[in-house]
Amino acid sequence: MAEKDVAGSFAPEEINCPVCRENGSESEVELLSESQTNMTYLPYIGKGGKQHIHDSNIFSKEYECSNGHKWADRESGKCWCGWKGKILGPTRIIRKL
Ligand SMILES: [Zn+2]
Ligand SMILES: [Zn+2]
Repeated sequence: MAEKDVAGSFAPEEINCPVCRENGSESEVELLSESQTNMTYLPYIGKGGKQHIHDSNIFSKEYECSNGHKWADRESGKCWCGWKGKILGPTRIIRKL
């Protein structure tokens, strides 16, 4: 198994407009802004020398789709071992024309 940075997953992450998904339409998505909290974290080394990245910073992202919908997502870091940062609220829809 190839050692890989945890942040780079194997398949591209799918980001779909929640409104379009509900309507069954397709759209292209643009990332409008991105911000994150600024907590320092250090990776820790678990059994077998495996490095864990338990980063509980929260990333806030705002998206707009080509149909004019706008929404925001918040997510925190996750680790290959299944660790997940805080449980975050659902996608917040800002504009649902
Ligand atoms: Zn949309
Ligand atoms: Zn871990």
